[in-house]
This record gives sequence, structure tokens and C-alpha cells, in this order.
Amino acid sequence: MSLPDIRNRLAAAVAAAGRTPGTVTLIAVSKVQPEARVLAVLEQGQRTFGENYVQEAAAKWPGWRQTFGPLQVHMIGPLQTNKAKQAVELFDAIHTLDRVTLAEKLARLAQTRGTCPQLFIQVNTGSEPQKAGVLPEALDAFLRECRAMDLTPFGLMCIPPEASDPLPHFQMLAAMAARNGLSGLSMGMSGDFEAAITAGATHIRVGSAIFGDRNYP
Ligand SMILES: *Cc1c(COP(=O)(O)O)cnc(C)c1O
Repeated sequence: MSLPDIRNRLAAAVAAAGRTPGTVTLIAVSKVQPEARVLAVLEQGQRTFGENYVQEAAAKWPGWRQTFGPLQVHMIGPLQTNKAKQAVELFDAIHTLDRVTLAEKLARLAQTRGTCPQLFIQVNTGSEPQKAGVLPEALDAFLRECRAMDLTPFGLMCIPPEASDPLPHFQMLAAMAARNGLSGLSMGMSGDFEAAITAGATHIRVGSAIFGDRNYP
């Protein structure tokens, strides 16, 4: 796989779903990838990236922003509250808002800074005990709490359970977003982004299918 292949598959899935071209943002997930692979994708014109670790992103992206100009970097990994300040300075979007303590911290930072990254609430659609995210039945109340703090979440994000058909999870997330007046849907990865586009994804997060397998240190 490569960036042009994934762009072609994205456009084909958008067309097959009868959706408007340009309504799905491809986030190239560059976590733990060798620098040369990320540079190659930057040189092919990709400008939106996803990272999982604040420290790693802080080491890479400020320099590449200087070299390549405006870039969108999205935080898609779990965010510790004590890293929230660094995260809002570094990222254009945070996909993993999943608890009140983090919302409170982000709301305070937004007030001080006068600006806030685009926020997605992570929903644990499979109600898996080990997985991050707000439980589906707790979403509406959590969203009300966020809005009461003057946070304006843009959308929802999910990572479906590994061994199950992802489509019902994507459809559930889309229904929850529609019910709550949210327009963003961050869903779909290398193995299932076409199904996510069928279900209405606005942001797909694709790593290994663009960059190759990750070699964790
Ligand atoms: C790593 C990661 C991805 C990308 O996964 P691939 O299977 O390599 O496409 C997407 N979303 C999240 C939340 C991730 O942590």
C-alpha cells in the first residue's frame, strides 16, 4: 500500500456511498514510523497527520512545520491530564476526550488561550472494560457537561472491538453524533476505513496501510 493507493480507495468509497467528494479527511497516522517514511509522505503532499504520544509528536512536528509550512497534526492516542497543556499547544485536534477531568482541564486552557483544538469525544462503542472512551449510555450526559463548561466538541471517535464486524459500531457512532447535533465522525483505520466511509466517517485514521508495519521499539 501507499499514499496514492489509499487516496484512490478513499475516493472510490466516497463515490460508492454517494457522498460528496472531499468530505472525508485522511489522517496519516505516523506514530513510531521511521522519519524517512514520514518525510516521503510529506513530500507527496500529505498535510494531515495523526500521533499517539505527546512526547514523540513534540520532537517531530515543530521542525517539520517549519520546513513544510502549515500542517494539521491530530492527537489520536490517550491523553494524560498532565500533558493537556502541551497537547493544546501542539495539536490542531484531539480525538480522545473521554473524561470529565480532562474536559475541565481543556476548558480552563481554552479560556486562558482564547482558542481550543477541535475536539472529538472517544466513545467505547463495544463497552470493552479495558478500552478508553465514554460508554454509549453515558455520552449524552458527558456532552452536556462539556457544553456547560463552554467546550464545543466537534465530533465523536471510536475504535471498534478487534474481533467483531466494525460496521455496526460505525453506525452506532453515526447515530449518536446525529442525535447530538455533532458533525464530525473519526472512525476507520487501515483495515476498515471503507466501511467507516459507508457509515459516514468525516475523518479516517490510516497508519500501516500508508507507511507500512510499525516496529515498536
Ligand atoms: C495506530 C492507530 C491508528 C492507525 O492504525 P492502522 O491500523 O495502522 O491504520 C488509528 N487510530 C488509532 C486510535 C490508533 O492508535
